[in-house]
Amino acid sequence: MVTGFLAAAEETRAPVILAFNRHVTPDIPIELGLPLAVQAAQQARVPVATFLDHGHSFEEVAQAIRLGASSVMFDGSALPYEENVRQTREIVRMAHAMGVAVEAELGSIAGSAVEIGDAQPAPEAYFTDPALAAEFVKRTDVDVLAISFGNVHGPYRGEPRLDLERVRTIRALVEIPLAMHGGSGLADTLYPSIIASGISKLGYYTAMGMGAVATLRRQLIEAEPAALAYHHVISAMVQYFRDEARRVFALTGCVAKATP
Ligand SMILES: [Zn+2]
Repeated sequence: MVTGFLAAAEETRAPVILAFNRHVTPDIPIELGLPLAVQAAQQARVPVATFLDHGHSFEEVAQAIRLGASSVMFDGSALPYEENVRQTREIVRMAHAMGVAVEAELGSIAGSAVEIGDAQPAPEAYFTDPALAAEFVKRTDVDVLAISFGNVHGPYRGEPRLDLERVRTIRALVEIPLAMHGGSGLADTLYPSIIASGISKLGYYTAMGMGAVATLRRQLIEAEPAALAYHHVISAMVQYFRDEARRVFALTGCVAKATP
């Protein structure tokens, strides 16, 4: 994935964020996976950020910073509001001292990128409250805010109902970039309006991860099994992620956004 994304980013002059999520890839130790992404980011000819996705404790975030991540997420969305504020603020203070940006989450984004099961969006009661979002950002000094407005981790079931009016309201109340988790698998035509409503950072994995498997299956069926070994799978996947990343960069307006 790293190789394919970076090739696509350099070819299209698109800046990109490489995220490491220990829950999605538990077989890859963070001590290996994250430094690999950091190394790739440093060598890239376009701006590449590295990101710890869904850190759940001070210790996890501190470890990612020590391993070189340029940005981290502290997900305190399951905590009571005041506790989310307290822990996020503590982590922001530590991360900023290290020159690292922090994303926090307010409101609950349902579903899982790990289990490809029945993900229903969070009920509206768990959507991000705009006034609370403004207060949260002010009190925590966080750099990016992940919000809940009908987006869901994992595949969307049925017609997604995104509350873009809520995104616009939050956008008007907070000055920092807003992040959308669960950004893959939507109709191509939706992306311009999602971005126009105020989303700056889009998490794009599940649909791409499932597309990789579909592509691999198709290629394996067509190929003569005796002529294939593991390294052919790697080549096929680098090519897939390269092509798919180019398509997503075009779809989301990232092409040529890298400053020389
Ligand atoms: Zn997420």
